Amino acid sequence: MFSLRAISKRFGNDTLALDGINADIAPGEFVALLGPSGCGKSTLLRLLAGLEAPSSGKIAWEQATKPAPGAIGYVFQDATLLPWADALHNVFLPLRLRGLSFAQARPLIEAALAQVGLADFATQRPAALSGGMRMRVSIARALVSDPLLLLMDEPFAALDEFTRHKLQDDLHALWRQRGNTIIFVTHSIYEAAYLANRVLVMTPHPGRIAADLRAAIPEGPARRQSPAYLDFVGEITQTLRRIMPA
Ligand code: ADP
Repeated sequence: MFSLRAISKRFGNDTLALDGINADIAPGEFVALLGPSGCGKSTLLRLLAGLEAPSSGKIAWEQATKPAPGAIGYVFQDATLLPWADALHNVFLPLRLRGLSFAQARPLIEAALAQVGLADFATQRPAALSGGMRMRVSIARALVSDPLLLLMDEPFAALDEFTRHKLQDDLHALWRQRGNTIIFVTHSIYEAAYLANRVLVMTPHPGRIAADLRAAIPEGPARRQSPAYLDFVGEITQTLRRIMPA
């Protein structure tokens, strides 16, 4: 889908946030960017979204799968919903910005809310929803434009563990069903191993990709207990120990 070619990003205060990032991402991959705070994960997502420009290097998009402007979904750690609008109107926002009327958009909005399990909460405002439900609305808002590429910046970090496991299961199932490309930032080894089929391990100061790990974990309800998943957690842990000695 795109290649990161020798990407570096230096901020005005001279921080070298990213240094020589190279990676080829294929359509339909679920890639976790894993690393400690400050290793440049969010900066890399912002470059992919076009919110920042690299200082050197480039992102080379495959023309056939290059997302049109506005066709990249972005989910942040906070749900960032409009407090005065119900779930329907929060999810409507990106379509409204594209010029659709609410009547035109409504079937798409309802389908996106149903996909995240919120069909029955469409007319609730954020204050009436739990943290997990607010994050589901935020994911529906990103999915409503049917993005080829979904960028997610630690979306489950603020949720309790029970809710986080449920959202991880649902996101993984959605990805399998939709086949879109997901780049997911996390600093949880378990989350990266569970969700993604490829984990790019990043190291800080300056931000670099130190390892590119892949796993084939069998799908199904026993995934979280499967030996393949636990082996992948072990492989990532050992890699981190090797590249970031205490
Ligand atoms: P991560 O998402 O892995 O925590 P970030 O991409 O947020 O890392 O930040 C990487 C490095 O770049 C950090 O040292 C951070 O302080 C610095 N940084 C991020 N954004 C800016 C900015 N706008 N101006 C200056 N420094 C920044």
